[in-house]
Formats: sequence, C-alpha cells, structure tokens
Amino acid sequence: MTFEDLNIKRQFLNALEDLGFEDPTPIQVKAIPSIANGQDVIGIAQTGTGKTAAYLLPILGNLKFAQSLEPRCLILVPTKELVIQVKSQVEQLSTYTDLRCVALFGGVGPNTQIAEIVAGSDIIVATPGRFTELYSKGHIYTRKIKHLVLDEADRMLDMGFMPQIRRIQEVIPQKHQKLLFSATFPQKVESLCDEFLLWPVRVEASPPATPVSTVTQHKYRLPNFMSKLNLLLYLIQNEKQDIKRLIVFVRTRQLAENITRFLSRKLEDEVRSVHSNKGQNSRHNAMNAFREGDVRILVTTDVSARGIDIPDVSHVINFSVPRQYDDYIHRIGRTGRVFKSGIAITFVDKAEEHHLEQIEDLIQQKIPLIKVPEEVEQPPTPKAEILVMAKEIDDQRKRQDPTFKGAFHDKKDRAVKAKEKKARALKKRKR
Ligand code: AMP
Repeated sequence: MTFEDLNIKRQFLNALEDLGFEDPTPIQVKAIPSIANGQDVIGIAQTGTGKTAAYLLPILGNLKFAQSLEPRCLILVPTKELVIQVKSQVEQLSTYTDLRCVALFGGVGPNTQIAEIVAGSDIIVATPGRFTELYSKGHIYTRKIKHLVLDEADRMLDMGFMPQIRRIQEVIPQKHQKLLFSATFPQKVESLCDEFLLWPVRVEASPPATPVSTVTQHKYRLPNFMSKLNLLLYLIQNEKQDIKRLIVFVRTRQLAENITRFLSRKLEDEVRSVHSNKGQNSRHNAMNAFREGDVRILVTTDVSARGIDIPDVSHVINFSVPRQYDDYIHRIGRTGRVFKSGIAITFVDKAEEHHLEQIEDLIQQKIPLIKVPEEVEQPPTPKAEILVMAKEIDDQRKRQDPTFKGAFHDKKDRAVKAKEKKARALKKRKR
C-alpha cells in the first residue's frame, strides 16, 4: 500500500516526499480511508505509530486551502509540548498549501496567540484549558469547525480535562466529524466515545496496551538504590557504542535531580534533566539539547513520557518501575519509533516486583530477566531503605487483602512491645 493508493493529493505527496516518509504506517493505512470518508473514528495508537499524520493527512486534504478567518478544524491535545509537536507536523505536511495553523497553550501570556487567531486560521491545535479560556473571553469563533480531534484522549482524561472537553463539544456545530485517538482504551475513554462519537469506526495500530514490537525489553533485579545507580553508570560507560541516545525514567522529581547530579559528575556534558519542577524554558532547552544530539542522556519523570517525539532514542531505562502501569508502555514507546528498533531496560527492586508483574499482565508478556554483571557493585541496603521497601510491600498486600495487618507493622509492634517489656523489667529491678 502506498500513499498514492490512499488517494493523498499531490501537494501532500510532495510534502511526504520531502519528509522522507516512503510508505504509510499500518495505522495510516487503516485510518485514512475512513477519515477521508467523513466518518467518526476511534484510533487506538501509541505515539511512534504515525497516528498524527494518520488524522492530519485526510483532514488537510479536506480543508485544501486557506478560507476565511475562522478555524475549520480543532485538535485538542493534553500538553503544550504536544501542541507544538502537532503544529509542527501540520506545517510540514501543508508546506505546499496556504493552510494556516495556530497553536494555543497555557503557561505564556495570551496576547500573541489572540493576535494569531485574529489574523485568521484554518486549524487550531490547543490544550483544552487554554482553548476554553480564550473562547470564553470571546476570542475564538467556532461555528465553522467541522473536524474535531481529541488526541491522547486517555491522557486528557487522566489530567482532568473532561469538563473542558464537554464544554467545547457544546460550543461547536453539531454536525462535525469527531476523531478520537488514544494510546490505551480504559473504561473512561470508552464512555467518552459512547457520549460523543456517532457510529465510529474503530482502528487499532496494535492491540491495546501492547508495546511496539520493535522494542526489545529486559529487566534487571537489584537490591537497592545504590546498586541501581551503579548499574546505570556501568551500562552508560560500557555500552557507549550502543547507547546513542538514552532516556532514563525515574519516579520523582527529586530522584531525577539527584541522578542527574550524580551522572553529571561522572559524565560531564552528557546529561540533562526534565521534570515539572523546572521552568518551561529550562525544560525546553534540555529537550532541545537532547533532540539535537548535544547531550546523550535525558533523565526525566513521566512528564515527558507521553507524546513527545524524539527520533532515534536507542535506549530507555526505567530506573524506577512506574506505578501508573500504562506509563510503562508510553515510556518504552520513546524508543523503537516508526520502523526503528530500540531497547527498553527496567531496574526492579523487591518493592517494585509487584508493580512489574502487573505491567507484565497488562502487556501480556514476561520481560526477560538479565543477570547483573559481576563488575557492578551491589552494596548492602541501608536500614532506612529496607524500611521504606518493607512498608511499600505491606501496603501492596493490604491493598490486595484488607484484613492483612502487615509484616512491617507486626515487626514494628514487636519492636515496641519488646521495648516496653525491657522498660518494665528495668523498673521492676530498680524497685
Ligand atoms: P506519531 O505516532 O504521530 O507521534 O509519529 C511518530 C513519528 O513518525 C513522527 O516523527 C512522524 O514524523 C513519523 N512518521 C509518521 N508517519 C510516518 C511514515 N509513514 N513513515 C515514516 N515516518 C513517519
């Protein structure tokens, strides 16, 4: 199947040629004909499958060229980063047309965005928050909108955008085509589809919750934080040839900072970090430096796990196992992008075993275990860390079985009781 077979018009074929896209990806083959026919479509596809172009190509084909001042297509996405990314794809694909695209997102003053809307647009790519804000102030006319795309719908719902999405539905003309793309298909996305889409055609890039098959997955079992850090450094230093571009995912912002500091001391200019404690500018700069290949390693929390497209990420390392299980799929989806292969490595300690088992159930695969190389030092676990892990394991068991009192608490109880007994004996002896 070629793009010509999908009836893509000449001006867009030229743009695809410039971009070096030779053949359509599976989601493009499946989605483009139905979207071009004007049907409502549900697309289950992760980033990295080519899903953005899957909805953009038929929409751009329908819009053809610039018309009036009012937008005819609205694309809602969860984050500023994704707004910028989608807008950039719109611009690349519409190089040979005069179609205009405006990006709306929060975190910056609205005046420039308002000026762009006033100058006229055909497509608006927006976060639901900023769109509703500008709409309610009377800056956006919606009566000509005939295509509405909800991209990364699962993520938008997770972020609490449902009220804004409902409000937006109410202010655009009843007769419009709705497209919903989502990496996963949990119950809440299903309800959203039932509520808004009319006789939708459902297309899937791969079965839901399945990591892209071009990603090779491994896991290492490690006793504690220091051992994880040692293995991370070992892999970076010893597999230098293979690890061309690495994203390290960690659980917390603090951890991201600490690991970045540790790696920077050893590797100097090769590391940056991105997390939500950082200012927009610093995040943007770090992302750019990584994207441009100026730094080899990016340490991040799940902030940038979804949606961000960085080509040629050779390795993803999950320094911590994500507690939000579908984040695992999003994380490892950073590598193995379209037609390329990648490696995803997960470090798992005792307290995280349970979460990784859940993830293995979700992806319906057992992730192969690799032996930690002997050269990697695995120091004993500090007492404080043992307690944190024990508590987490207890909490997991309690969640599964509410009657379970918890070995950790038992132990604590026993320790308290022993102390009390000792005090009583001491008192008695004194008497
Ligand atoms: P997406 O899944 O939309 O985030 O796209 C992931 C990456 O694949 C982006 O960098 C696109 O530019 C690229 N891409 C989309 N379609 C194709 C294609 N048919 N061939 C090669 N790359 C593509």
